[in-house]
Amino acid sequence: MRAETNPTVDLIIPVYNEQGVVSTFHAQLCQAVDALPYAFTILYVDDGSSDGTPAELAALAQADGRVRVVTLSRNFGHQAALSAGLDRADSDFTITLDGDGQHPPTLIPQMLSLAQAGYEVVLTQRLESDELSWFKRATSALFYRLLNRVGSTNILPGGADFRLLSRAAVQALRSLPEYHRFLRGMVAWIGFRTVILPFAQPARLAGHSKYSLRKMTRLAMDAVFSFSLVPLYMGISLGVLFLLGALAEAVYVLSFWITGNTANLAPGWSSLMFMLLVVGGTLMITLGVVGIYIGYIFQEVKHRPVYVVRAEAPAPAPPSR
Ligand code: UDP
Ligand code: MG
Repeated sequence: MRAETNPTVDLIIPVYNEQGVVSTFHAQLCQAVDALPYAFTILYVDDGSSDGTPAELAALAQADGRVRVVTLSRNFGHQAALSAGLDRADSDFTITLDGDGQHPPTLIPQMLSLAQAGYEVVLTQRLESDELSWFKRATSALFYRLLNRVGSTNILPGGADFRLLSRAAVQALRSLPEYHRFLRGMVAWIGFRTVILPFAQPARLAGHSKYSLRKMTRLAMDAVFSFSLVPLYMGISLGVLFLLGALAEAVYVLSFWITGNTANLAPGWSSLMFMLLVVGGTLMITLGVVGIYIGYIFQEVKHRPVYVVRAEAPAPAPPSR
């Protein structure tokens, strides 16, 4: 009889300046997965950390044979770091999770049993929780409401970058070459049999969020402008609206001429000025939206890699012949 081999699982964990968190996280992770009948590879992606994280990761790799470390040459951002991990995934199942303890590893057994039951994508959804600051909750709610209004793919509100993907789903994701990556949208786009697992998000193990307001804004921009053309259409609708307004005004003015009441026509400097400003402003905004899309196209056509790797431990296997 053929020996039963365990299915393989890649765990992908992007970390950026998580010194003092990774060792606690790793212990939590081991506790959750050690007893499971799967062969795990634990891949930490160091997203250009400038603190003691690289040393801590090296120590983990020394102590635990399942640990691999990919080091990016600078801080490329969470989505790029996740992509670096996904590009190296080579297992039956791949799970991505944050390295700060906010994606509880205790959920992994459940995700794997859902995968065994035939689901190819297991998404997780943050439950409303008091652990989240009101600012994060408000911006997140607004973000998903806006996104699902303008986007064509339906993206799960409160969705986290904590998910399981089958081998085929990982391959599908890898075939999307875009530079501006919003993985939550990309995963929604690829389809596959999907199930949603809600979870209560605990507080960070330590340290503070690495998602600055700037990084959050950039992610939101990527989500809107690489997943939707609606802002462009909005510009057109607005233009049509103003054109109709102008037409109505012309008819109104004409009515004075027809009835010979031109004396009643007010000199109208203020209304003219008002219209000029409104139309000018609308034009500028629309032009700005078009400009943003051109900028995105510009960055896409450069075909730059999403991230650059400085080192990989252990070194990747030579391509098999
Ligand atoms: N992270 C990263 N690169 C970045 C920012 C964050 O790899 O530029 C990692 C971070 O170390 C953590 C995960 O992505 O493991 C989620 O980030 P964080 O917890 O700071 O975000 P939040 O949970 O506050 O949204
Ligand atoms: Mg976090």
